[in-house]
Amino acid sequence: MTVRTRFAPSPTGFIHLGNIRSALYPWAFARATGGVFVLRIEDTDLERSSQAAVDVIIEGMKWLGLDHDEGPFYQMQRMDRYKAVLAEMVAAGHVYPCYMSMAELDALRERQMANKEKPRYDGTWRPEPGKVLQPVPEGVKPVLRFKNPQGGVVAWDDKVKGLIEIRNDELDDLVIARPDGTPTYNFCVVVDDIDMAITHVIRGDDHVNNTPRQINIFRALGKEPPVYAHLPTVLNEQGEKMSKRNGAKPVTQYRDEGYLPDAMVNYLARLGWSHGDDEIFSRAQFLEWFNLDHLGRSAAQFDEAKLRWVNAQHLKAMDDAALAPLVAEQLLKRGITADERLAAICGLFKDRCDTTVALAGWAAAFYADVAPSAEERAQHVTPAIQPALATLSEKLAASAWNKASISAAIKETITAHGIKMPQLAMPVRVLVMGTAQTPSLDAVLELQNQQTVLTRLQNR
Ligand code: GLU
Repeated sequence: MTVRTRFAPSPTGFIHLGNIRSALYPWAFARATGGVFVLRIEDTDLERSSQAAVDVIIEGMKWLGLDHDEGPFYQMQRMDRYKAVLAEMVAAGHVYPCYMSMAELDALRERQMANKEKPRYDGTWRPEPGKVLQPVPEGVKPVLRFKNPQGGVVAWDDKVKGLIEIRNDELDDLVIARPDGTPTYNFCVVVDDIDMAITHVIRGDDHVNNTPRQINIFRALGKEPPVYAHLPTVLNEQGEKMSKRNGAKPVTQYRDEGYLPDAMVNYLARLGWSHGDDEIFSRAQFLEWFNLDHLGRSAAQFDEAKLRWVNAQHLKAMDDAALAPLVAEQLLKRGITADERLAAICGLFKDRCDTTVALAGWAAAFYADVAPSAEERAQHVTPAIQPALATLSEKLAASAWNKASISAAIKETITAHGIKMPQLAMPVRVLVMGTAQTPSLDAVLELQNQQTVLTRLQNR
């Protein structure tokens, strides 16, 4: 059997990290098993769905490398198919028209609440052998209700939550088509999961309540339901369910803030799944290890500091040549076009950065003017050090431009002036790089343009 999974987002808000984790696991499971990953856009809520939200979903998945094999399928484009299946359900006697008005439904609910019963449809219009239904009211368009099985239980072995059993008596007859004939949410999902031959539904646990209803619809259609895995919620740093309303950022913002796709995948993977104590792993390792047996049962909490740390680990481990184009993109946003030095610059500075934005901040000193702070200037570029800076400038002007020659010029200067390395290195860093805290001076200077170094040293 080929594994077929899907991600079925509703494009009703900008997709955030909590949502995209529901894409990561089905994607990983498909990739880990040589299966197929389907993207389906659940856009039937016309008022709340938007193309902009669809774009962020697709862009975010592309950035994270969560490539889909089939789709995107849009539910709004599948209405004819849902209606055809609905007609089959009508023909097979699995649905019935219900003419109960809103007012009657409200009255029913109030009666049930007063009796301390769970509000539910009471089956007034459900046909039964020997039951006489009331006359059909004139001019009322009915909804169609699904004849939920009576008695017995609906059970499934959830890959996250374990065995879940719901008594059919707790489920009332679900409306599966509105008076205008449009099918409702749970019905469309089942038709899609059948048509797309989904074998494993991996989704947020806010859908657990829908599952027994969906399973009953599957069976009415003569199909066995897929395997279900319901993922616990992702909480934000305040411990609330992550949502746009309480400040969650769209996924693509992390790209703009300098996070690496592999680091995001690593971080999100750990947010609800584990492989022993492993915290840092590559995409390939993740896919090698991933299965549905180690999904976490409790809600995971987002932690931006940890995400930054994970990103820093990936940044350090990343090949300089692969890092350079990502940093070049960040530099372009500052109006800077990088050159072939960038990979080496990345190599020199990546250890002290946690994002590509921070790395671009360092790289900028090689391509654009620097502006040392007045305090750092005053502290390091003192009158006493001016003669040594003059000597160094002369030596560097005459030097070949490689690390060994630059290092020799620095050493000769400190010997000639009887000073210590930091006394010379700090002011040079402040003038050339705009800050006193940099990696080893000869390595930094070597990557700078010789003329730039001389010009900046003159500005003392
Ligand atoms: N569209 C649903 C959501 O965004 C997911 C439905 C499903 O995965 O079955 O929450």
